[in-house]
Amino acid sequence: ASQVQVSSKVKSPWYSASPFSSSVPTVKLFIDGKFVESKSDKWIDIHNPATNEVIGRVPQATKAEMDAAIVSCKRAFPAWADTSILSRQQVLLRYQQLIKENLKEIAKLITLEQGKTLADAEGDVFRGLQVVEHACSVTSLMMGETMPSITKDMDLYSYRLPLGVCAGIAPFNFPAMIPLWMFPMAMVCGNTFLMKPSERVPGATILLAKLLQDSGAPDGTLNIIHGQHEAVNFICDHPDIKAISFVGSNQAGEYIFERGSRHGKRVQANMGAKNHGVVMPDANKENTLNQLVGAAFGAAGQRCMALSTAILVGEARKWLPELVERAKNLRVNAGDQPGADLGPLITPQAKERVCNLIDSGTKEGASILLDGRKIKVKGYENGNFVGPTIISNVKPNMTCYKEEIFGPVLVVLETETLDEAIQIVNNNPYGNGTAIFTTNGATARKYAHLVDVGQVGVNVPIPVPLPMFSFTGSRSSFRGDTNFYGKQGIQFYTQLKTITSQWKEEDATLSSPAVVMPT
Ligand code: NAD
Repeated sequence: ASQVQVSSKVKSPWYSASPFSSSVPTVKLFIDGKFVESKSDKWIDIHNPATNEVIGRVPQATKAEMDAAIVSCKRAFPAWADTSILSRQQVLLRYQQLIKENLKEIAKLITLEQGKTLADAEGDVFRGLQVVEHACSVTSLMMGETMPSITKDMDLYSYRLPLGVCAGIAPFNFPAMIPLWMFPMAMVCGNTFLMKPSERVPGATILLAKLLQDSGAPDGTLNIIHGQHEAVNFICDHPDIKAISFVGSNQAGEYIFERGSRHGKRVQANMGAKNHGVVMPDANKENTLNQLVGAAFGAAGQRCMALSTAILVGEARKWLPELVERAKNLRVNAGDQPGADLGPLITPQAKERVCNLIDSGTKEGASILLDGRKIKVKGYENGNFVGPTIISNVKPNMTCYKEEIFGPVLVVLETETLDEAIQIVNNNPYGNGTAIFTTNGATARKYAHLVDVGQVGVNVPIPVPLPMFSFTGSRSSFRGDTNFYGKQGIQFYTQLKTITSQWKEEDATLSSPAVVMPT
């Protein structure tokens, strides 16, 4: 097992030797301000997806450890909620600086555990950092509302107040960005937070926790547990957790939404996707083809906003051979190798699933124009690599269209008109993201207006909103009613208290009981 080199600036508790096992480094829990070795007897191996070597082990936290984490969050809450908003803001201001200083180290850890290229891993951290920067605007974001003189001498005002203990459950594909969508926003509002990172990529979260501690976050304000179903059920059921942020698959998200809601919690769940790029024949061809290829195959397609479906409208269908040529030129390699455009998939099972979905295309009558199933990467023969794959002649009833593939596979449909394309997109159950490529403003406007998808790009292939806006996936891609980050994120992690206050200068003593509803 290779040892991660972590800069001397960050004494990483990740990949430190285990007191119980001499060979494989273990990931610690973060409980009440301490990075502690789990006493669990259930451990999960973490693999480098480029080699499938075991690089570490993550525990499934015991019930006692999860309880300790909640006790810690609960104990830290009153003082943290009472800490002045300016002090909480200062912690986050220091945090964004430390993340910047350690961005490359976090990215290295992401590449090792998750497989994406180093440049893409830096983007992963950077997009999370932007949310931390946004959280620093809490002083204006958390303002309530006021209304003076609603009647004589009476004023009405509201405060936004923290909820208490909140929790987050994250997926494997953005090991830094997605946890950073969650705990910084919740904590800056005065909540304390229990984080459960993906068991496949827990290292970045631990490193981020260390940096947060170094920024001055008091012990107990952030706790981290690891695990799978038991940890998830614990979070859904625990009466002291007031809100859950989830990002991941529909299978897990629907379950967590139902179970968490049943226990009276707020739940926001960002889930799966099938994002369509509609290519009009008047689009800037060069730009569009490059954008399509980048957005379909970047991160090996393991992005919830990957542009995994192209709809070529009218004459744009003639661009297909050039699209294939560009995709062929992408370099598939281990993420830490210079020049790599895309790395491996997360697990051998993920690779098998993606290959089966490509097979289904052939069986159901589609054409494989570019086939990445058999790719071999020199020096990384055991990695979970799939090369860029393009499937054409795809129809909406085919399995490869209906399922989220989550691999470097672009499925291509063709239509005669924009209206037909819109109909296809709107009939798809997912509503995460979509893009239109055109040089006609009226066409773009029509598309943005009629398409029933939460995030629309006009000549922008991956329209993930910056954090002053919110991440607004819709339909089957989202459950809940308040989105991640932006103003919505603040709403999710706060509750309103409204105060009606009367101060009269003259004697306000009532001469008899006021039994009638005040009007
Ligand atoms: P996943 O659902 O397998 O795992 C997400 C989290 O849920 C993990 O922490 C995991 O431990 C837990 N989990 C997994 N299965 C569970 C189950 N059956 N019951 C309870 N908990 C469970 O997702 P993943 O494979 O890590 O991530 C990929 C998925 O996430 C894709 O579908 C992708 O589209 C989606 N995603 C969505 C967004 C978004 O913002 N919409 C962003 C990133 C990823």
